[in-house]
Amino acid sequence: MDEQKTNNNSEVTKQGEVKPQQKFKPKHRYHKVQHTEKQASTPIPKQEYFLSIIIPAYNEAESFKELYEKIRTAITPLNCKYEIIIVDDGSTDNTIKVLKEIRAHDNRVKIISFRRNYGKSAALSVGFEKAKGDIIITMDADLQDDPSEIPNLINELQKGKDMVSGWKKKRFDPITKTIPSKFFNFVTSKLTGIPLHDFNCGLKAYRKEVIKEIELYGELHRYIPVLANWKGFSVGEIVVQHHPRKYGKTKFGFGRFWKGFLDLLTILFTTRYLQRPLHLFGFWGLIFALAGFIIDGYLVIEWFLGLTALSQRPLFLAGVLLIIIGVQFISIGLIGEMITKTRETRKEYSIKEIIK
Ligand code: UDP
Ligand code: MG
Repeated sequence: MDEQKTNNNSEVTKQGEVKPQQKFKPKHRYHKVQHTEKQASTPIPKQEYFLSIIIPAYNEAESFKELYEKIRTAITPLNCKYEIIIVDDGSTDNTIKVLKEIRAHDNRVKIISFRRNYGKSAALSVGFEKAKGDIIITMDADLQDDPSEIPNLINELQKGKDMVSGWKKKRFDPITKTIPSKFFNFVTSKLTGIPLHDFNCGLKAYRKEVIKEIELYGELHRYIPVLANWKGFSVGEIVVQHHPRKYGKTKFGFGRFWKGFLDLLTILFTTRYLQRPLHLFGFWGLIFALAGFIIDGYLVIEWFLGLTALSQRPLFLAGVLLIIIGVQFISIGLIGEMITKTRETRKEYSIKEIIK
């Protein structure tokens, strides 16, 4: 099979599957989560699972009838029990009316309606909380994600992955969205060491253990694979079909880029340093302060030997500045440590199994 290298650690086949990650190890020093085939949970028996499909929707009335039919066509052959949870994220159009019509003749359709628009992460989060399935699929409501991919995603889970993300390899979005998105995916993949091409694909599949462990807030839905990976779950990827938006328009404006960037910082910081902020700030604080001391120490010796007057050396100010920045960083780190110690302790680990 034709294969391409994504990075040193893993390979992606032509279908976009991340192959067994013998060395699915991020490059940076602090993140030691190993990803091996062994680590994935036990296989889910075919057809014996309960499937939950979660769809966040904000003003998507036109899409729903078609979407519902397509989902049913796609999952009926799976012959499994299922529920479709639609989270109406404070829609102001006819979404809720259309959903109630669908629900009237299919009680496997569950509707959760927000009082106002809280955002996609909140919608997914409540969907995760309410889902009863062993396997959970998320997808967008706008028909851009193709329900016919659901069996393929489940198939990939059954091979042993804990979570599988779609990769919109051939994407039907405006170039103003696709290019920044490529850049984002590249940077995220490099910084986190997770060899995915499309972190923010709406179409994803999870084992229930994964969604019960992930805390989503703000707009962190963009980085679910990073959060899952950090907890120690194995993450895979398959190429999925994508379609242009048929009705309505995108709900995320230009703000998605700067918000996405800030969220990346949040994710990097909270996954690695939340419990030990001094390791980040203290490290840089020490480097800055040390550089400042060396520069100023050298200049002071020169001045002492009568070689130069400090007022003649602007570099002296740079040294002072570095020392101040260094001390500030260390102080921020220490304050961070104090906050970490005093706040309510959250579960920091994820247990796969307990054998008694
Ligand atoms: N969405 C939501 N709440 C929001 C914004 C979006 O529930 O505040 C839903 C939206 O209805 C769609 C999915 O999230 O089902 C993805 O949104 P969109 O298609 O606008 O994003 P894009 O495809 O442009 O990334
Ligand atoms: Mg869309």
